[in-house]
Amino acid sequence: MTAVDASSVGAESAAHAVADLQTERARFRDELVAAELLIPTSVDGLYGRSGDFESIIDLIDAKVEAAGAAAHGTSAQVLRFPPVFPVDAFERTDYLASFPNLTGAITTFTGDNKAHAQLLAERSAGRDWNHFLSPAGTMLVSAACHPSYARLTGTLPADGVLMDIFGYCFRHEPAVDPARMQAFRMHEYVRVGTEQAAIDHRSAWEERGLSVLADLGLEAEAVIANDPFFGRAGRMLAANQRNENLKTELVVRLYGDLDDGTAVVSANNHRDHFGDTFDIRTVDGSTAHSACVGFGMERIALGMIRRYGTRPRTWPAHLRA
Ligand code: ZN
Repeated sequence: MTAVDASSVGAESAAHAVADLQTERARFRDELVAAELLIPTSVDGLYGRSGDFESIIDLIDAKVEAAGAAAHGTSAQVLRFPPVFPVDAFERTDYLASFPNLTGAITTFTGDNKAHAQLLAERSAGRDWNHFLSPAGTMLVSAACHPSYARLTGTLPADGVLMDIFGYCFRHEPAVDPARMQAFRMHEYVRVGTEQAAIDHRSAWEERGLSVLADLGLEAEAVIANDPFFGRAGRMLAANQRNENLKTELVVRLYGDLDDGTAVVSANNHRDHFGDTFDIRTVDGSTAHSACVGFGMERIALGMIRRYGTRPRTWPAHLRA
């Protein structure tokens, strides 16, 4: 076989693998919908959840909470933020620089009666009416920890801060794969303090994350990862993140060997990024470092459904206890 033949055969089998993966993802989504675990909408990646699905989320969260309590006692501040937060805090996360394509902005109508009548006329005519709306000063939350940093501006307590945060996140990436939802929940433990505190937090939670997943019956692997930074500048950010070993993902194979697996937990060291942009300092006056571990609740639930089936009431008792 010539080199040209070999590469075209390679390309063909790669194309088959992609097609198989897409088929498998669509099949899994259809299975989740047929079992009434997820309620589809007219938009890919946006689902309602049934009581059975929420019972899975609850049992996962009980394990996450137990790991948090075992590690930190009652020292973590429990914080719950709405899925919408102020645009000034959003700007300070710098998310717009790295992931403009994943953001979600809130708009609203602030016009007068005349403008309202025009808007309704456009809508009746089946035309676009979005340009009648203007920014509301709020954005959808992209990562559960993002709304937590603005309150820390200033000098931290001597031991820094540890926060337990659970909330909905939004990322605009419509997909057939049920593991890539546009709205999903993350349970995070966030440490803000010295450089060493951030390093220790991330590495300790890598281990704890693996043991939480093992408790739930999931075989996971820790891999050094990078975020999907946008554009050409993003490639450099991604390379730096890998080289400096700042992000670890715990990956579960939802689709066997068809892909490299799905990240269900991520542990991130932000170094002094948020300390800098939110002006957070340690008692000695240096810029604070931060790290967070995030449990992707829906993805872990999907991993368990792959393993134990679509009827959680029939799952082994030790999981439900
Ligand atoms: Zn986070």
